[in-house]
Amino acid sequence: FTGFAMKRLNEVGWVEKEKPECGRRDAIVKPLALSPCTSDIHTVWEGAIGDRKDMILGHEAVGIIDEVGPDVKDFKPGDKVIVPAITPDWEDEAAQRGYSSQTTEPLGGWKFSNFKDGVFGEYFHVNLADANLAKLPESIEPETAAMLSDMFSTGIMGAENAKIKVGSTVAVIGIGPVGLSAVAGAAILGASRLFAVGTRPNCVDVAKKYGATDIINYKEGPIDEQIRDATDGAGVDAVIIAGGNMDTWPQAVKMAKAGSKISNINYLSGADVVPLPREAWGCGMANIDINTGLCPGGRVRMERLASLVEYGRIKPELLITHRFKGLEKVEDALMLMKDKPRDLIKPVVSI
Ligand code: NDP
Ligand code: ZN
Repeated sequence: FTGFAMKRLNEVGWVEKEKPECGRRDAIVKPLALSPCTSDIHTVWEGAIGDRKDMILGHEAVGIIDEVGPDVKDFKPGDKVIVPAITPDWEDEAAQRGYSSQTTEPLGGWKFSNFKDGVFGEYFHVNLADANLAKLPESIEPETAAMLSDMFSTGIMGAENAKIKVGSTVAVIGIGPVGLSAVAGAAILGASRLFAVGTRPNCVDVAKKYGATDIINYKEGPIDEQIRDATDGAGVDAVIIAGGNMDTWPQAVKMAKAGSKISNINYLSGADVVPLPREAWGCGMANIDINTGLCPGGRVRMERLASLVEYGRIKPELLITHRFKGLEKVEDALMLMKDKPRDLIKPVVSI
């Protein structure tokens, strides 16, 4: 079968592969809706996880089951499923300690387009089908559900890791699709004043629809100064970093206060050391904590996110700005993600 792959660093193209073998507890799935991620761009063009040869890209998918192994209980060929970007090894000790995205090694729950072929092919393999697939509810379009695999799972985790309480003031730095999902998550968890940092007009528009109360343009001056001015010097209770560059972490610390949580969901690339401002961080004693995390995967996470859609709490379809038809269009969708035209939030490819 064919798939769209990272051929080596800085090079993508179509490859021919053998149909993957289905293990006893696994499934082979054909895609119905696919979306590229900014992480695919970091992987191919920034070398963020090192080189890969002829590895099929993509980790955001909704699909239809083609085959299941003999030990799979809850799924059968023909079932429509939401496929999480992260498919952990649930028996691993890291999963048992509560960190299922980090099974076997750091980021080890992330398999598709990291160390095995991803979802941008006619078929893809899913490990532990009963634990890592969720049935697609009939009321949700596959394209909408594809926004749950990674975008909403990551963004909502960003808000969870920021320990938002009812009435917390929150800043979300970066409002691409990941940051926008974090805005939605912060609103659900009870944010009061909710700053969203970004400039693209479509993103600003969706940020407001998802619950942002104030928009900050990072091009108009340091964002910590803008947020301190807007809060009479107080700063915010929670900061979610979902974009920016190596200057962003220092700015996050400078807008935090004692007890604030900074939650990073940005995929850092471009430098080996992340700077922190010693004085603003109270010489390391300011009770300003930094939490990190990789998108949660697995069945229960996907089922919970799908129920948020079913009961009208989140509207993932607002992230979709560009729609394509046909597997061959994943190439165009990926290049859009690389070029980031100003009207882009997220492209989706229907198969
Ligand atoms: P986008 O590129 O679409 O969005 C980036 C956002 O950051 C935009 O709003 C942009 O503003 C803003 N930004 C750019 N420069 C600055 C700056 N100097 N200061 C403040 N804000 C700035 O990215 P995505 O939403 O697709 O992805 C965000 C990150 O999340 C990526 O690094 C991605 O790899 C990562 N990711 C992490 C996951 C995880 O599990 N932790 C999972 C999935 C993705 P503007 O409006 O001007 O463009
Ligand atoms: Zn991703």
